[in-house]
Amino acid sequence: MSEHTLVSFGPGAALELRAEIHTLGLHRAFVVTTGGRSAAQIDPRALLGDACADMFSGAREHVPSATVAAALERFTASNADVCIAIGGGSAIGLGKAIARRVGVPLVAVPTTYSGSEMTSIWGETDDAGKQTGRDPLAKPRLVVYDVTLTLGLPVAESAASGMNAMAHAVEALYAANATDETRTIADEAAALLAQSLPAVVASPSNIDARTTALRGAHLAGRALDASAMGLHHRICHVLGGTFRMPHARTHAVVLPRVVAFNTTAAPDAMARLSRAIGQPEAAAGLATLNQLLGIRMTLRELGLRQADIDQVADEVTATPYPNPRTVTRDDVRAILLSGG
Ligand code: NAD
Repeated sequence: MSEHTLVSFGPGAALELRAEIHTLGLHRAFVVTTGGRSAAQIDPRALLGDACADMFSGAREHVPSATVAAALERFTASNADVCIAIGGGSAIGLGKAIARRVGVPLVAVPTTYSGSEMTSIWGETDDAGKQTGRDPLAKPRLVVYDVTLTLGLPVAESAASGMNAMAHAVEALYAANATDETRTIADEAAALLAQSLPAVVASPSNIDARTTALRGAHLAGRALDASAMGLHHRICHVLGGTFRMPHARTHAVVLPRVVAFNTTAAPDAMARLSRAIGQPEAAAGLATLNQLLGIRMTLRELGLRQADIDQVADEVTATPYPNPRTVTRDDVRAILLSGG
């Protein structure tokens, strides 16, 4: 059983970061970010003062093993007693990699809607593709949600990471191990995301909409953490891990297709989902939501080549995983080919 994650939620919450880690008995932070504009409307060094032992700004999507090695070397030299990830799922993923290897507590300050901060799920990539698993050590000890850090998140990243969170809620609704509690959390997550994301896209500085989106992402992460993942996450895992397709956008584009595929096999979950997102039908409703959010790419445009489709289908069906509807290789091919 993973340790309970403490959550601090509110505008300006990150200003208390230093005090929060001290309360946990932690004093030397190793900060990981994706650098550039990334999370940082704030400078972590200014925020943490001398509690910032070192900062590594090289986090990358899908957590490449070379990045983990470089960050670990710096972590070891820093003598830090806590790792703080400030950023989206990429920074948090690198934080998880460090926390798992060193056993150091992880603090996450999410600045996208990936939901990763609430899960014990880790993922790393190397030449052999993407490995994922669950590890209590990867689960943040503390998560600090500060909506002011998300105001600069570009519209496209907001929309895509929000639909990634939506995918967590969707698969939690029909998960083989779903419970009343996890379904309720997933319902709420889907509803909050569906309400808020169009408003975020229409008005990126709408702090209420961004606050609601963060709450949705938080609940979606909790739902995912408690649930077995199905076909949707499996396809995206292969597309991202083996073919390095962009994680969040790929999730957004694949989601309505997998929901359409699973519809007849999970009628209760689909009814709940369509209610939650306020649409008459779940799969079409998710496609409409993508349109509203300006997500109009095809998988081909995201980097999937016709020549790779068989390999994707092979990898997706190579190992069993729970899904409401039995999946064949041809099914996967059809899902990938529908919609371009
Ligand atoms: P990301 O972390 O790669 O961020 C996307 C881009 O937005 C980056 O360029 C980043 O620098 C920038 N950015 C982030 N916050 C910003 C802000 N507030 N203002 C301006 N720019 C900002 O993208 P993501 O979608 O959050 O995460 C994707 C990664 O998360 C993938 O590697 C995926 O595997 C992982 N993930 C893991 C889980 C899990 O439970 N383990 C869940 C979801 C996603």
